[in-house]
Amino acid sequence: MTKSTPAELFANDSTVVNVAVPVPLARHFHYRCATAPPCGTRLKVPFGNRSLVGFSLGVATAVNTEFELKPIHAVLDDEPLLPPAVWGLLQWAAEYYQHPLGEVLNHGLPVLLRQGEAASYKTTEGFRVTEAGLAIELNELRRAPQQQRLLAALRNGPMLRRDITAQEFSSAALKALQEKECIESFQHVPQTNADWSFAIGSEPLQLNPEQALAVAAIGAASKPQTYLLEGVTGSGKTEVYLQAMAEVLRKGKQVLVLVPEIGLTPQTLRRFQKRFAVPIVMLHSALTDRERLDAWLDAKNGGAAIVIGTRSAIFTPFKRLGMIIVDEEHDNSLKQQEGFRYHARDLAVVRGQKEQVPVILGSATPSLESINNVAQQRYAHLQLTQRAGGAKLARQTVLDIKQLPLKGGLSVPLIEQMRKELERGQQVLVFLNRRGYAPALLCHECGWLAQCRRCDAYYTVHQRQQMLQCHHCGDQQRLPKQCFDCGSTQLVGRGTGTEQLEQTLADIFPEFPVLRIDRDSTRRKGSLAKHLTAATENKYPILVGTQMIAKGHHFPHVTLVALLDVDGALYSSDFRAAERLGQLITQVAGRAGRASAPGTVVLQTHHPEHDLLQDLIHNGYAAFARSLLRERQLTQLPPFAQLALFRAEAHEAGQAQSALEIIAAQLPEHPEVFVLGPMPAVMERRAGRYRYQLLVQCQQRGLRQQLLQHTLAKLENLPELRRVRWSLDVDPQDF
Ligand code: ADP
Ligand code: ZN
Ligand code: ZN
Repeated sequence: MTKSTPAELFANDSTVVNVAVPVPLARHFHYRCATAPPCGTRLKVPFGNRSLVGFSLGVATAVNTEFELKPIHAVLDDEPLLPPAVWGLLQWAAEYYQHPLGEVLNHGLPVLLRQGEAASYKTTEGFRVTEAGLAIELNELRRAPQQQRLLAALRNGPMLRRDITAQEFSSAALKALQEKECIESFQHVPQTNADWSFAIGSEPLQLNPEQALAVAAIGAASKPQTYLLEGVTGSGKTEVYLQAMAEVLRKGKQVLVLVPEIGLTPQTLRRFQKRFAVPIVMLHSALTDRERLDAWLDAKNGGAAIVIGTRSAIFTPFKRLGMIIVDEEHDNSLKQQEGFRYHARDLAVVRGQKEQVPVILGSATPSLESINNVAQQRYAHLQLTQRAGGAKLARQTVLDIKQLPLKGGLSVPLIEQMRKELERGQQVLVFLNRRGYAPALLCHECGWLAQCRRCDAYYTVHQRQQMLQCHHCGDQQRLPKQCFDCGSTQLVGRGTGTEQLEQTLADIFPEFPVLRIDRDSTRRKGSLAKHLTAATENKYPILVGTQMIAKGHHFPHVTLVALLDVDGALYSSDFRAAERLGQLITQVAGRAGRASAPGTVVLQTHHPEHDLLQDLIHNGYAAFARSLLRERQLTQLPPFAQLALFRAEAHEAGQAQSALEIIAAQLPEHPEVFVLGPMPAVMERRAGRYRYQLLVQCQQRGLRQQLLQHTLAKLENLPELRRVRWSLDVDPQDF
């Protein structure tokens, strides 16, 4: 030990402390110190040749004295960083998902706290209007609508830079107003424990009877519980959230709202801000690390009344949590797909129970898990079967395209139907879940297909950029001029992506502008919100989009929704494919229609008679989902079975497979446990690695947990597993 290390502080270190260190090992580590820092404080500890931030788990009792223990480097917190509820939730999650506690705790923190930063505010920049800014006529800024809106917003009160960014105002508008001296910046020193009192920004809507029943049920419950708010698209679920929240906020308590997509947060934020004059913060991946920490502190200190966030916001500490809302609870993005693979919805339910606060899960297309929980009376059921404001749900139809020629994926009857709507001044939405120009590049002479060199997948053609792009590993190549096999220059795109569809539509309907919304057209920050607004305001008669447009947004002027190609899901090997297809079709269909102009949905398909499609279209999602659920029960699949999936990947297929064989050999035999595999993943090779999986299935959660715990303990010491990447996914969503 050199003289200058802070470890000197702990010179008489006779105590041994248990530390959860963020490494992929399912055990704690021992360090020496003078007095054990309280359980739950962060510590800086040496680990190998690195220095890591871990958590104290208190004094260690049984200590192996064989090894010389290292002293801790520093204690970072005076008191436990997380309130007991969040600490408990993370412990629970580590156990349930069988993930090392050190990594789970680390995951639950904003990045700066993971890096050892103090859990306190720094001053931040804010903006306020000047005298000149108050004097100027807003109308003078009509040529600069962004500036006009921003100035109007700032006239209502000063705003922090982070809130200005969060509301999608451009930095150019901010700068311009500053240069005109309409606004000025100031240094804002955030106040810890900032207080707020409840105030309404705008009056609530008059609830319809179903909404009223839902709000009343939540308010009247004698003890907090979980609610499934199953409401068709446009039924006014948000109004139910708002009015249920109002009661909680009125009591000075805080509300956590989870949304699946960051793209939806500005919209949600605006609706909430309009209703409530209370501090609202957002937590999502587009914030800077500092912004994220500040928002986290606001929640922890009680200064934020409402926190809106994506998945990881479930770990936010609150001073006085009063309610959790999970919007679009069926959405797959609530499940973390790598590392610590938790499901934010499921953790929300657990957290609600732990903290004794009500949890509202809302969706037009609930997951089968949640529907089953209603059937088992674990959740209370709240239903909204009517659209609010009198709008009708769209009529759904199938269009048999067997033997019909397709033009950029569109059949002639569909084109004619579109023309009719467009000529009547209506808006049309075409859904195609494939971005790019064409999903493959084909040699017309020899049949060669351009295949990704790192994946078992074809490159997608991106015409505008003249690139081939693999959507699985991100690999890019210049668009070749010649076939790699025969040298022919007759290369053509096979199939249709949104880029091509946009072009085709522009050719067919030159008089009707097309707006495409997909990952490629919305790369720039704020462009998604801009596109969505333009779409909502009917600036483009034709909308083309991928699943991005299937979420949350409502396009009131759309009267025709066409889904071009959903057949793939009808014959998928994934047992969840039918559920997802039903959700997707219903969500896309739900984008359309107002009271005055009911919509139509057209599903182009080669399988119009397929049972699933027929069931969905004639009986609606609610009935469709319940018949899927009965099927799951017959076949003993989730939610009637508990799954866990081991995955392994390696540069050689044999390595991945044999790693899983080793794992399989460690699984104890049990008459109620079924083990499937090892088998190759659906896409066996991805990003240059071969991927295999091993499925463990049983009836009881408890049994699954015991079994996994027992097995994992043995795996850690197996040298054969060190050469491959392997992981465990409890309640896997994707296979
Ligand atoms: P959902 O989230 O269920 O899809 P929204 O909450 O977005 O539906 O509501 C759809 C539309 O209906 C919104 O424009 C909303 O303002 C309106 N709305 C909701 N509840 C009412 C109501 N009780 N009376 C009139 N309009 C309502
Ligand atoms: Zn060729
Ligand atoms: Zn690839």
